[in-house]
Amino acid sequence: MARSIEIYDTTLRDGSQGQGIHFSVDDKLRIAAELERFGMTYIEGGWPGSNPRDVEFFARAKKIKFKHAKLAAFGSTRRKGVRASEDAQVRGLLEVDTPVVTIYGKTSALHVREVLRCSPEENLEMIRDTVAFLKSHRREVVYDCEHAIDGWKDDPAYAIASMLAAVAGGADRIVLCDTNGGSLPAEVAAATRAAIAALKKTPVGIHTHDDAGLGLANALASLEAGASHVQGTVNGIGERTGNCDLTAVIPCAQLKFGWKCVSSTSLKGLAGLSRFVDGVANLAPDPRRPWVGTAAFAHKGGTHVDAVRKFSAAYEHVDPTVVGNERTVLVSDQSGRSNIVLKAKSLGIDLDRDSPATATALDELKKLEHGGWSFEDAEASLALLLRRHIGKSKAAPFEVASYHVTARGAKGSAYCEAVVRISIAGKETLTVAEGDGPVHALDQALRSALVKSFPKVSLVDYKVRILGGTDGTAAKTRVVIRSSDGKASWGTVGVSENLVEASLQAIVDGYAHALS
Ligand SMILES: [Zn+2]
Repeated sequence: MARSIEIYDTTLRDGSQGQGIHFSVDDKLRIAAELERFGMTYIEGGWPGSNPRDVEFFARAKKIKFKHAKLAAFGSTRRKGVRASEDAQVRGLLEVDTPVVTIYGKTSALHVREVLRCSPEENLEMIRDTVAFLKSHRREVVYDCEHAIDGWKDDPAYAIASMLAAVAGGADRIVLCDTNGGSLPAEVAAATRAAIAALKKTPVGIHTHDDAGLGLANALASLEAGASHVQGTVNGIGERTGNCDLTAVIPCAQLKFGWKCVSSTSLKGLAGLSRFVDGVANLAPDPRRPWVGTAAFAHKGGTHVDAVRKFSAAYEHVDPTVVGNERTVLVSDQSGRSNIVLKAKSLGIDLDRDSPATATALDELKKLEHGGWSFEDAEASLALLLRRHIGKSKAAPFEVASYHVTARGAKGSAYCEAVVRISIAGKETLTVAEGDGPVHALDQALRSALVKSFPKVSLVDYKVRILGGTDGTAAKTRVVIRSSDGKASWGTVGVSENLVEASLQAIVDGYAHALS
């Protein structure tokens, strides 16, 4: 049987440290549900000791049914001079009530001296005591060895002693972290072998960063040397240059080395997961991202296209569909149809693979995507579009006949006003509302017109991305909003050269979905 590798996802903790990444609690919950669906072994949700948002996340994550993944809370070893049982940060790790607790501690004798400023023995006791305390509360404990590779190079005996202290406390996993991201694959492999030899039974894992462009290579070197657990983030988001990218390490381990990480069905969800996380993070997906980028299996004209048509392996290292990607020369072919049928099914819409409606919907989607639309985070807009093609859409519940938005500013204060003329069942109404910004004002005006006829819908999140203009065309704005009726939430999208127009499209879709 193939060796199996545990996948430990830290998108919600280490990933959220990345520059320009701001996850709300709702964002984190949606990502966690998606990571569970994908089939991660562990999902690290956050550090309860570092901010109240993570405490709220863990409280609300109790509603998610984790069938496959185990949720982990992250923290550190106790402070020096207090018992673990009396350390507020450590106790906080129990309060969030997760099956797994991951703590990090110092591996490097140099860091113990210079940063922690305590004796080498006190640090070992801090590690053992914290792990033992968490174990006494029946938690699975993952112990992250900070600066493991650097510390091992500097003072191998002390580094190993720190790992043995965690094992003495009862740690279930010992994870070597290349915290500064500057190690080389051969060094990571040597440290992994040394740890495995010293720890005997306790499984060893690896956590790498990409500062030298070696995050993936270092993780694979460690797995090749015998590690059985790998930590990383979706799309490699994370501090500085980021973490080891799970969207690369998973297919490399599974397809190139033949180790088992996730089911082959899960692997087919990899490209979708990558786009989903980019969507929630409001990042433009990198088309050149290995395995999952839209250009990863794109063939541009000439002999390659011809060769790939005859024999797909001619210019492709794997079949793109195994990671949920597709060959882009054959956009409207079978795989495009299968994907849209699958997507429709997940939205509760029955689409016949061979019907003309599927072909026209796919055509429209391709055109819209070319024009800057993206439906990754806007499932409600996609559902509305698909229903229109299969003739199952209801008549529009209302129509915006015209609108007018003004913005005024004076000395540090800004104020917007929106006037909306809307027709509901043939009857026109005119509403006026004020707001903090043009979109807020528009939403308020629309809502005051609709509130009498329709259930209350509120705008809970709003994301704007400017899409660069090309070939002399103006830059476009893509607006993704999430609306909620207090029970469910749904995403919609609008794209226009005009921010207000793009927002209006997304808001109108948001209401239309609630009323459909
Ligand atoms: Zn890290």
